Amino acid sequence: MCFKKKYQIPFPEEPVDETVKLEDIDTVKVIRQWYIQYEIQGDWDFWNGIRELAEEAHEVDIDVEQDLPVWNGYQHVLVPAYSISESKLVRFDVNWFNPGTIMHEFCHISYSILKPIQKLAWDDWYYQNRNKGVLKYLFSQHPYGLTNPIEGHAEIGRYLGQYMPEEARKFYPEIYSI
Ligand SMILES: [Zn+2]
Repeated sequence: MCFKKKYQIPFPEEPVDETVKLEDIDTVKVIRQWYIQYEIQGDWDFWNGIRELAEEAHEVDIDVEQDLPVWNGYQHVLVPAYSISESKLVRFDVNWFNPGTIMHEFCHISYSILKPIQKLAWDDWYYQNRNKGVLKYLFSQHPYGLTNPIEGHAEIGRYLGQYMPEEARKFYPEIYSI
């Protein structure tokens, strides 16, 4: 018998679907899949803001495009998704528009809501725990989460979701702490 502890990643990375066209996608349906899959505790109205419909009631602006070029200082490059936390705008390439990518970007929005002292507490927690247990395993598989505490926060949300360590949940306002 082997008693070596095994960890699992509950939400493996979804494959990119290059066949999806913008006109075929039901944006609200995909966001609802995200909301259900990750057992989101926060308000649906906060997260389902479709850009065209965005009004006061919708706090997050979501924009899905066929291609998503960003200026990197030298040239335009295509990226899967990005978020601008200050304005709560999240943009996606339609081919990457899936619950996992949504979770990563929405974790950035959630992080941006934390108070400064909570962000410091998150940094402490992240550095104390990223080389242990399930996080050590996760970041061995997906080292992007080691980039910094903010990307670590998003990757923990994206791959572990509601199965993240209990004490981490309070650092995900509108997702797991309300
Ligand atoms: Zn990120």
